[in-house]
Amino acid sequence: MTTSDTRRDYLQNQKSSGRKLLGVFPAQFPRELLWAFNILPVEIWDPPVEIAQANAHLQPYICSIVRGGLELILQGKSSLVDGYLFPHTCDSLQNLASIVNDHLDTGKPCFFFYHPKAVDGQPAREFYRNQLTQLIDRLEQHFGSINIERLQECIQTSRRLYSQLNELFNLRKQGLLQITNSDFYATLRRSEFLWPTDYISELELLLTQKCVKPLPSRAVVLSGILPNPPEILSLLDQHKIRIAADDLLNGQRRMTFLPTNANDPLEAITDAYFAQPPCSTKDSAIAERLKHLQKLTVDSKSKGVIFNIIKFCEPELFDLPQLRAGLRSTGIPSLVIETEINQVLSGQIVTRLEAFLEMIGD
Ligand code: SF4
Repeated sequence: MTTSDTRRDYLQNQKSSGRKLLGVFPAQFPRELLWAFNILPVEIWDPPVEIAQANAHLQPYICSIVRGGLELILQGKSSLVDGYLFPHTCDSLQNLASIVNDHLDTGKPCFFFYHPKAVDGQPAREFYRNQLTQLIDRLEQHFGSINIERLQECIQTSRRLYSQLNELFNLRKQGLLQITNSDFYATLRRSEFLWPTDYISELELLLTQKCVKPLPSRAVVLSGILPNPPEILSLLDQHKIRIAADDLLNGQRRMTFLPTNANDPLEAITDAYFAQPPCSTKDSAIAERLKHLQKLTVDSKSKGVIFNIIKFCEPELFDLPQLRAGLRSTGIPSLVIETEINQVLSGQIVTRLEAFLEMIGD
């Protein structure tokens, strides 16, 4: 496997090798459980499809992630997968899950994962554990019994993977990674469809880009759902601005913590979930999100925060005014841009971004 292999070729090869594929919608799901079933999670965030049929099933004010995911299914472009997994990330994705499961005849099983809308406390932990058990039960009905030893091995693999990711995030924070924002996220996002051991090999390669002295670059924090449209990254690259840390749902918000050493594998997965940074889709307190953003900015010596909000993303939009006001009160400038996935950045957004970069200075 090389980084030039296309996603489809890779998936085809995985399938030919006997692995099952599950199309997984954003964002948080217990990937170790799927690996233990020899299932490769294939995440569906921003498929490159022209919207033609999805609008007939959706209200106009729905985000482009949901619209794009539904279009992918309607166009039959997800035919390789053996089923779909819908985490309960937000109402829009829940709505999509109902449309696909109840109204479309895909001929593939749908699985659901309801993570708790509470970030701590024993009842929330019990709820999460219970969801893990229910997901195992449902997967066993389609893919055979889970092997607990195999699950333990997957937890070990996950620890290796997440500790490498943490090392990468740390190097990036210190400016010790000789790589553009575009290339960094291109590699990071290959976690969305690579088998973990293949992904670990790619991360090892990326870690060789480590440099001895920090790069002379201005830094910002990127917040939002995912680094799309990709022009945002190339624009920052052109202006020699480094994303030193991110608060992306598709990035550090879900990739920071590794399963603990708990003997019970489900406990290890649960620990990792509850150790993750605060998130709008888990109803985290805004004060916690603000504290987290301030810490990311200060620790990474960033000059400001760019919120890249996907249009109609309610969870993110609800938190935004208070987050910005809180940042402002501590002297951290921020910019909000609203984008649709896979759309070219408008001239107006480019101008606003460039004005913000000029404003935060050297
Ligand atoms: S962009 Fe926002 S509204 Fe859309 S799926 Fe993600 S969390 Fe839900």
